[in-house]
Amino acid sequence: MTFKERYASDSEFRERKKRLARESYQRNREREQASSLAYYYEHREQQITANREWKAQNQDRIREAAAAWKAAHPDAVSEHRSRDIKRRWADPEGKRRQVARVKLAYAVRSGKILKPDCCSRCSASGPIEAHHENYDEPFVVVWLCRPCHRLCRPPLGA
Ligand SMILES: [Zn+2]
Repeated sequence: MTFKERYASDSEFRERKKRLARESYQRNREREQASSLAYYYEHREQQITANREWKAQNQDRIREAAAAWKAAHPDAVSEHRSRDIKRRWADPEGKRRQVARVKLAYAVRSGKILKPDCCSRCSASGPIEAHHENYDEPFVVVWLCRPCHRLCRPPLGA
């Protein structure tokens, strides 16, 4: 009897072969994953730097790809946005922040507060963001460029 014939006729044999194949696949998959993880940790710094450089050099491409994806998935975008808004408002601290942002945005729109064109820390132009030291004082802000603003933010998990 050939392997093929036995495989077709002997269900016990077939199940055993299938199980062995599955197990071997699982084992290899674990090994594959472990080795790729080990590679990742060994080259982590390099990869992060390379990624950062690539991103810096391909900003237009990234922006275009993101815009194209958003245009192709309007439902996902609005779904994500509403979930994001809900999540922000659900948390009391998030709500305080949102209230401050909304009040400030209104004040800027109505001309009560003037938003400068450049960063008050490093004088860079470009997108300027409002940094709140205290969300209970929505109109007391420091206007910062994105890199400076990022430096002000508490580190993740803080
Ligand atoms: Zn700055």
